[in-house]
Amino acid sequence: PGPVDPAGAAALLRQARDVLVVGHVRPDADAAGSAIALATALRRAGTEAIVAFGGPDPVPGTVGVLDRDGIVVPTAEAPAAPDLLVCCDISAAPRLGDLAGRLDRAGASLAIDHHASFTGFATHHLVDPGAPATVLLVRGVLDELGARLDPVLARLLFAGLYTDTGGFRWGGADALRLGAELVDAGAEPRTLLRELSGTRPFAWLAAQADVLAGARSEPAAAGGAGLVWAAVDAATTARFRDETVTLVGQLLATAGDGVAALLTETDPGAWSVSLRGTGTPDLSRVATTLGGGGHPAAAGFERPGTRDEILAALRAALSP
Ligand code: 5GP
Ligand code: MN
Ligand code: MN
Repeated sequence: PGPVDPAGAAALLRQARDVLVVGHVRPDADAAGSAIALATALRRAGTEAIVAFGGPDPVPGTVGVLDRDGIVVPTAEAPAAPDLLVCCDISAAPRLGDLAGRLDRAGASLAIDHHASFTGFATHHLVDPGAPATVLLVRGVLDELGARLDPVLARLLFAGLYTDTGGFRWGGADALRLGAELVDAGAEPRTLLRELSGTRPFAWLAAQADVLAGARSEPAAAGGAGLVWAAVDAATTARFRDETVTLVGQLLATAGDGVAALLTETDPGAWSVSLRGTGTPDLSRVATTLGGGGHPAAAGFERPGTRDEILAALRAALSP
């Protein structure tokens, strides 16, 4: 038990008879791309591998776009006690959602992750907080497994790499080099990105305008960071859950050196908060204080309460 390198992770995967691969709840393209790519490669090598994502929230459209071969099963059909449970892009056990119980029932567990806030919840860890995306770590494991990058795997890895690096804004030369390799291997950014984020309902234009019109900018308290925030209420969330993810980037563009927060009411009285900033203050730490986690410049947390209670907790966590 403990840390493993990519070769150690590949050895664990080769020994397992059946593998359940999971990503975090409400998977983004890094979680879903990592999990589906890994399971695809395992199946090609003759290992029984299944992908599932924990509820109770429904899986986003991203999963349907990425799961062309249909290897994702509904949460209820995830094997109860797999030989090996692989957790992709998951920083802490609660991020498995209602699949968290599988951690105790699986023969062993392997976390593949890149969060600064990683908690060491699995029996084996392949974790690098310096990696810009989990797909980069998965790629290392695929190499060790002898999997050849073909258009299917390349597309899955590219989706996670592009999304988690903010479209190659960060991640540096390593991310760009892997991106080039994936395009050489058959990933098609133009069609993929259209499928992932280029098709939205027309009604989203007006709904988005309403959300952004309600945004507020709060000046920095002494020694603290300024805050630009907006809230999406439960009714709007129910209609447009897949569309709201890009809003926090729009808030950040107006936040200067400060922090952007998008408060999404996932159910009445339950909030999911996305934080974005420059890295100072360290939002991974801010979010961890509030029960979540993430990276220095991108983090999140979930919390019950009223909108104003969430904001009060956030302001307190941001004040020095
Ligand atoms: P996003 O705002 O895109 O949902 O998440 C940004 C980053 O924060 C991602 O790396 C994500 O894994 C992390 N994050 C978001 N929400 C939570 C949460 O509730 N708990 C934890 N531990 N991390 C979160
Ligand atoms: Mn993620
Ligand atoms: Mn990630």
